[in-house]
Amino acid sequence: SWPIRLDRVSVTYPNGTVALKDVSLSIDAGEMVSVVGLSGSGKSTLIRTINGIVPATSGTVTVGHHDVTALRGKRLRELRGHIGMIFQGFNLAERVDVYHNVLVGRVSHTSTLRSFFGIASSYDRELALRTLESVGLLEKMWMRAGALSGGQKQRVAIARALTQEPSVMLADEPVASLDPPTAHSVMHALERVNAESGLTVLVNLHLMDLARQYTTRMIGIRAGEIVHDGPAGAATDAD
Ligand code: ADP
Ligand code: ADP
Repeated sequence: SWPIRLDRVSVTYPNGTVALKDVSLSIDAGEMVSVVGLSGSGKSTLIRTINGIVPATSGTVTVGHHDVTALRGKRLRELRGHIGMIFQGFNLAERVDVYHNVLVGRVSHTSTLRSFFGIASSYDRELALRTLESVGLLEKMWMRAGALSGGQKQRVAIARALTQEPSVMLADEPVASLDPPTAHSVMHALERVNAESGLTVLVNLHLMDLARQYTTRMIGIRAGEIVHDGPAGAATDAD
C-alpha cells in the first residue's frame, strides 16, 4: 500500500481549460478517501493526473516513492501496473466468464495469451479466487460477464484490478451509472478491499451520502480547487 501526494499541481488542457488549480494533497498509505464534486469540477482529471494519463502542467505528483510527473514511456507503464483503476464503464469481455475476466488483471505479470486461455499458474488461479471471494462473487465465477447486473459487473472489475496486486486503487465514479442498492454493493466491496488489505483507495463520487457512508476522509473539489478536506462522517451539505 502506497501514499499519494500532490504538491501544487495545476492542469491546463491543450484547449486552454484549466481543470486543476494549485492542488496540494497528501493521502497516507491505507486511507479510504472520496473526492466529491459536481460534473466538470476536475475529479477525473485528478485521477488521470495521479496515474500519469494526463500530465501536470506544473507541480509534482508522487505515488509511493515514484515521481509520476518525471516518468515517461516504459517507466510510466510500469508504475501504472501498481495502480488499480476502476471506471464508470466496466470494460469486461461480456461473452467471457467472470473468472477469466478477472484473470485478465494478471496481464502485467504473466503472458496475456496464457492467462486468457486459462493456462494460469496456480498462484494466479488462487489470487483470482481470493479476489472474487472478497467482492462476493465466487459463486458467479462461471457466469458470462454479460449476464451479470451492473453492480456485479463493477465488482468483477474491482476483482480484476485486485489481481494486478496494486499498491493503490483509483476509482473514477464507479457507481455513477448504478441504481442506489447496486451502488451500495459496489461501495461496500471497495470498503472491504480497503479494510481487509489496507490498500489506499481514492474514489470519485458525485453523491456526498456515499462518501460519508463508505469513506473516512472526504475531499470536496469545485472548479479545479479543493474546497473541503476532512473526516467524511463529519461533513455536512454546507461544506
Ligand atoms: P466526466 O464524466 O468526467 O464529466 P465527460 O463525460 O464530460 O467526463 O467527458 C468524457 C470525455 O470527454 C473524457 O475523456 C474527457 O477527457 C473528454 N472531455 C470532457 N470535456 C472536454 C472538453 N471540453 N474538451 C475535450 N474533451 C473533453
Ligand atoms: P469531473 O470528473 O469532475 O467531471 P473533469 O476532470 O472531467 O471533471 O473535467 C474538469 C474540466 O476539464 C471540465 O471543464 C472539463 O470539460 C474539462 N476537460 C476534461 N477533459 C478534458 C480534455 N481532454 N480536454 C479539454 N478539457 C477537458
